[in-house]
Amino acid sequence: MSSSDTEPRVLSTTTVDTRSLQHLAALVRTPESETIDVVAPATNESIGAVPNCSKASVGRAVERSRRAQKSWKQTSISERSAIINRFADLVLERQKWLLDLVQVETGKSRTDAVEELLDVPQTCSYYAESVTDELTPTVRRGALPPATTAKVVYEPVGVVGVISPWNYPLTLSVTDAVAALIGGNTIVLKPDEKTPFIALALCELLTEAGLPDDVFQVVTGEGAVVGSKLIDTVDYITFTGSTETGRVVAARAGENLIDCSLELGGKNPLIVLDDADIETAARGAVQACFTNAGQLCLSTERLYVDESVFDSFISEFIGATRRLTLGTETTFDAEMGSLINQKQLDRVESHVSDAVTHGAEVLTGGRRRTDIGPFCYEPTVLTNVTETMQVATEETFGPVVSVYSVSGVTEAITKANDSMYGLNASVWSKNQDRAQTVASQLDCGTVCINDGYIAGWAAVDTPMGGVKHSGLGRRHGPEGLHRFMEPKTVATSQVGPITAPAFLPNAWYIHGLIALTRIQRRIQSLSKQMGSHRRLR
Ligand code: NAD
Repeated sequence: MSSSDTEPRVLSTTTVDTRSLQHLAALVRTPESETIDVVAPATNESIGAVPNCSKASVGRAVERSRRAQKSWKQTSISERSAIINRFADLVLERQKWLLDLVQVETGKSRTDAVEELLDVPQTCSYYAESVTDELTPTVRRGALPPATTAKVVYEPVGVVGVISPWNYPLTLSVTDAVAALIGGNTIVLKPDEKTPFIALALCELLTEAGLPDDVFQVVTGEGAVVGSKLIDTVDYITFTGSTETGRVVAARAGENLIDCSLELGGKNPLIVLDDADIETAARGAVQACFTNAGQLCLSTERLYVDESVFDSFISEFIGATRRLTLGTETTFDAEMGSLINQKQLDRVESHVSDAVTHGAEVLTGGRRRTDIGPFCYEPTVLTNVTETMQVATEETFGPVVSVYSVSGVTEAITKANDSMYGLNASVWSKNQDRAQTVASQLDCGTVCINDGYIAGWAAVDTPMGGVKHSGLGRRHGPEGLHRFMEPKTVATSQVGPITAPAFLPNAWYIHGLIALTRIQRRIQSLSKQMGSHRRLR
């Protein structure tokens, strides 16, 4: 493991132009003079500051957003899609600027930064292509067909609040927003305090792509102040972050009687079956465990390996882990970058030292690397981990994985499911049917077969989210759009009010209604077979 000795392009505070950061900070419309410092993890030095917004500033941003939404929802779907497509083009065009910014703010490797950058145009294309079909009104069965008809139209919920984390600040600040925007909602985004500049850069690109004023605004500041005011004033909240904060957000959304989606933490298992291709599984596991230095909600922190292949897998896995290059270059040389800050480094160290104190063995890693960066930590593999250790059950959110030998599929599934989380799981086998059977028994929102997480995450047509304490609701796919829409029923009677006609005695009318209900039940069961949810064209 090494940092590059000769490469001068190491991340520093000069990687991005300070004037461009000042310009970005000015996009936050607030009279507040108090600011929050933003620090580059690769050097632990300040790169600039953003406004520390008050509750009053957030309230004003939401009011502006509400006004802007009135005309934004009137723009045609094709116009909204065109803006989102132009924005996707700009993200690809300005990739160097965005990647530099992501790296400076997070300390992640260039490769990890590219992974999140590419997610943005992919999600934009998906929603721009699918939105018309998804939001076309649907014909439903009326109360008394054909005397009455009914259809469902989809209207935007209004102002959507987005609260995003620091680990994937580029994609997670904007991809949920893209789905909401294309549906006719406006956005007020509260990025994490540690990574506000990338969110502001995206705001600038959205404006350049043609988004009208106030349709996408960014409010910077503290979670407990800005985040909570947002939840008190918007019509829907989409939150990505820790399970702990997710509970606070859900409770507040409940008090305000607004809907929310919560993408929370994970303690994701990876299962290697006895018939897996060991070399491929080991390579995949390295990616699943150490992408973004393990600071990925979907990353693997528990590895269950069939005892018959345990030794050969461990040998391959440890070898591949040791070959990972750790560094803070702005080139593609380093495969793993820094942790975000001292707090995250302390958490990783405390999980490892608690495990070692209680009898775990470090197979590789287990050390901070301040020679490379102040918050760098080696990719670490632990064995002999028991359930009382913190690392066994709590999300580390760092480059630490525990490996366990299991006696077969049943034990692997039982252990994988023995967690309060249920976000992502990974299964490795050469036998697709076997892997599918295992997948069907895992309690989580996504299962990837013969891949760690990308196959699931990048399948933007499919819903992504967690069960148990990993969250509520789904992003991506039609589900990721419909959460931001209010389905409204419009029912029409062709025969006037549905009540007894003036010429008919009431008793006759009641008998008639009962007979009609019987006939209706027959028709309903027949039409169910034929598929009654036809789309209006
Ligand atoms: P966090 O919960 O501390 O912060 C997330 C966001 O919430 C930040 O913007 C923060 O300012 C804001 N916030 C903090 N307190 C708040 C409050 N009281 N009200 C409203 N907002 C508040 O999470 P984090 O530590 O920044 O992120 C790491 C966590 O996020 C990990 O647990 C990780 O698994 C999870 N995560 C999940 C996903 C997913 O898709 N499931 C994706 C990325 C990260």
